[in-house]
Amino acid sequence: PPKVKAITFNKHGPPTEVLRAVTYQLPPLTPTSLHLKFLASPINPSDINQIEGVYPIKPNFKTLGEHEKIAVAGNEGVAQIIGVGDKVEDLKVGDWVVMGKSAFGTWRTHAEATPDDVIRIPHEGIGIVKAATLTVNPCSAYRMLKDFAALKEGDFVIQNGANSGVGQAVIQIAKAWNINTINIIRDRPNFQELKDYLKSIGATYVISDKDLQAKNHEFEWNKDIVGKGIALGLNCVSGKGVISMAKLLRHSSPLVTYGAMSRQPLTIPASLLIFTNLKFFGFWMARWGNENPRSKRIEMLNDIIELIKQDKLRDVVCEENIWGVNDKDDDDVLTRNFLEIFKKAVEEFRGKKQLIKM
Ligand code: NDP
Repeated sequence: PPKVKAITFNKHGPPTEVLRAVTYQLPPLTPTSLHLKFLASPINPSDINQIEGVYPIKPNFKTLGEHEKIAVAGNEGVAQIIGVGDKVEDLKVGDWVVMGKSAFGTWRTHAEATPDDVIRIPHEGIGIVKAATLTVNPCSAYRMLKDFAALKEGDFVIQNGANSGVGQAVIQIAKAWNINTINIIRDRPNFQELKDYLKSIGATYVISDKDLQAKNHEFEWNKDIVGKGIALGLNCVSGKGVISMAKLLRHSSPLVTYGAMSRQPLTIPASLLIFTNLKFFGFWMARWGNENPRSKRIEMLNDIIELIKQDKLRDVVCEENIWGVNDKDDDDVLTRNFLEIFKKAVEEFRGKKQLIKM
């Protein structure tokens, strides 16, 4: 079996301080196990929270090779099967798989797994970037558009953090389902460029957070929502800024919070509950995964893969970084090279996701 190069931590803390590359021998294949070779994994905000210790799903600290009580970082990714135990059915060498649940530890070149850990996906016409970012962002967007409001064609959804991975998936899935989106992004020097990009992937309207607050209800979409209002709000950012978005929702509609990128509490005036009767929900993909059968997850993935094949869901804007494969087995060099990539994933206004290709 090959040697594994992995990004690990043995205690929670700031990622740049606690992350450490290690190398170890992949254990031999058993009749019921699989050997995986990771192709690519993204760096998602929740991966960072998990390393910091502020994410509810705790990593799996265990012994890997001669390293005791370490956890491999990363929750999402795509791998190719390179070994299949004699008793494993329905999976074969060469298949592409994504992770069946969180906390697998995807920032590594290879891994041992069981068939339950993974879900096979077709790889024709999908590509590595989409496969590596399939299970978190598009699935969250899909569920939030489906599960909280009975949206009809022509309805309007409003979201902040619209250029996030989830936000981009919301725009495209909504477009495929003939649902309109009003998209809020933070003001920035290249606002127009980002606005044009989001429109090119299907955004109906794009507005900056500053304009949303300044415009005093004279919005370009007002003519389109007469008689129906805005049916659903999706909150990626939290903080006080959510007020101006929530005020635009129609009576009794849901506002779904799935992120707190501002790292601020969600602030909402009581009048929106008392008079507008808004319904506030939290969404967490991991909870949905625990509460629903694997078959429903597979059905959702198939729907999303179909959208990809129809060219309705593009690659999320990301920067691809090669790590591990070409580096020699020197843990210091591997750590340093990884941290260079990692730093780009936490830059302000980074504009793209960092993807590690192994
Ligand atoms: P990305 O890294 O793709 O995007 C991050 C987004 O956050 C960008 O739109 C960025 O905008 C914005 N942002 C960053 N810092 C701030 C800030 N201080 N104030 C306001 N906006 C900010 O992330 P993902 O799409 O992967 O995830 C987005 C959020 O959704 C995260 O909080 C993540 O944890 C959460 N999430 C939750 C899920 C769930 O199941 N509940 C599932 C998936 C994601 P800018 O370009 O302006 O910096």
